[in-house]
Amino acid sequence: MQDRKVRVRFAPSPTGPLHIGGVRTALYNYLFARQHGGDLIFRIEDTDSGRFVPGAEEYIIESFRWLGIQFDEGVSFGGSHGPYRQSERRDIYKKYVQQLLDNGKAYIAFDTPEELDAKRAEIENFQYDASTRMQMRNSLTLSKEEVDKLISEGKQYVVRFLIEPGRDILVDDLIRGEVRINSSILDDKVLYKSADELPTYHLANIVDDHLMEVTHVIRGEEWLPSAPLHVLLYEAFGWADTMPRFAHLPLLLKPIGNGKLSKRDGDKLGFPVFPLEWHDPKTGEVSSGYREKGYLPQAVVNFLALLGWNPGNDQELMTLDEMVKLFDLSKCSKNGAKFDYVKAAWFNHQYLIQQPDEAWAPAFDKILKEEGINATTEQETEVVRMMKLKVIEYVDGQGNKRKRNISFPSDLWPLTRFFFVAPESFDREDKFIRKNWTETTADEMTQFCEVLTNIQDFTVEGMKAVVDPWAETSGLRPWNAWRICLVGAGQGPDMYELAAFLGKEETLKRMRFAIDYLK
Ligand code: GLU
Repeated sequence: MQDRKVRVRFAPSPTGPLHIGGVRTALYNYLFARQHGGDLIFRIEDTDSGRFVPGAEEYIIESFRWLGIQFDEGVSFGGSHGPYRQSERRDIYKKYVQQLLDNGKAYIAFDTPEELDAKRAEIENFQYDASTRMQMRNSLTLSKEEVDKLISEGKQYVVRFLIEPGRDILVDDLIRGEVRINSSILDDKVLYKSADELPTYHLANIVDDHLMEVTHVIRGEEWLPSAPLHVLLYEAFGWADTMPRFAHLPLLLKPIGNGKLSKRDGDKLGFPVFPLEWHDPKTGEVSSGYREKGYLPQAVVNFLALLGWNPGNDQELMTLDEMVKLFDLSKCSKNGAKFDYVKAAWFNHQYLIQQPDEAWAPAFDKILKEEGINATTEQETEVVRMMKLKVIEYVDGQGNKRKRNISFPSDLWPLTRFFFVAPESFDREDKFIRKNWTETTADEMTQFCEVLTNIQDFTVEGMKAVVDPWAETSGLRPWNAWRICLVGAGQGPDMYELAAFLGKEETLKRMRFAIDYLK
């Protein structure tokens, strides 16, 4: 047991888009696998055909590709323990169901839904278990001949797990410690259905974890109630020695109020609960995703890693590699983790401002395309440099210290629009304009236009060499009015840099327009 190679799995059911809580589960499995030099398996648990949603599997794979969480084996990744899609493993499960039947650990039950309903009406809090199973229609109460006859007639049946009452079941959880429950509270769970010739989640999950040599089951708290049953199944198969260790992760909780985080919380408060945008194939409904919202994958991963775990110091910003080193299941919290979406935006801000200037181009491209503007990558990079967008604290055009908080690429546009679009109008009531555009300004700007027209070398240096001495001798201070002409407001970068970026023609055009408008 001790020297088995660490193997963990992420085993979603393709019932829709991957919830952000599922992403965290996969991430913790990833961190654990990497830390132990182990394998991470991607298994699709699609035995519940009624809940299958087309596109969900592809969506999940694409989500992890975007997030940079890599699997070693599984659906779409290959490997020696396949197939990794449960719907392709029917024959395997049949064999193991038969094994339980042969060993008297399970039995066949023919009760129809109507018969079960009748029993429920008759017995309060009816449960199919040791106290009731001998009143039902199953292979424990019918003769072997009757059972064979019913099956040969094509009667539908299920296979139920025979649970002995009164046993103390121990789940040894790496996060929660020892969890004990009594087997009497469990019902004889259905493990297999003849109708679709498929096992239920419980059987398929245990058989696969065993055959795929899984050593640790790290999953959400919602699966904790299934764990005692799973322990019993391992025993029934004679696999107790290689039973995986369990770790049930804390729930993700609503940002406000009590209870589990839901899609509704996201809709209400304006944050996504899915990694990627999801287009529901049935309803056509579109749910927002972290990627489309402008989050960087590193920020999402970093933020999620800290929902339920922390490295024990104050460190918040961590690369995936650092997390692999620091991660510790035993430091995961038992208590639910409040989903702090404001903090998520803070993480994104931190990662955005760490990017090199040229890395902003894709975000810019998207915005500019939407606005119908063509710009080169060099121009986009130059705007980021001029605006010092990466700096939280900056000095504005008037020399004031300011703070800026770009949390999403969409925040870029209001700050940088004037680089690409000339002012169309001016607000005479604007404080900056009122103060800096006086009766004489139009004339002064006209003179200034002439000075600029004669400059051949329209670079920062070329302009400085001419404009500075001119300002000195004429005694004019054209900077703020010039800013009004080119930006339309009291914001923006160094004026020479802006004019050089716009070029002579555009600079003069904007100046003439402003002079005309404001005169
Ligand atoms: N198919 C289950 C899910 O959708 C897997 C639970 C487990 O990890 O055992 O999460």
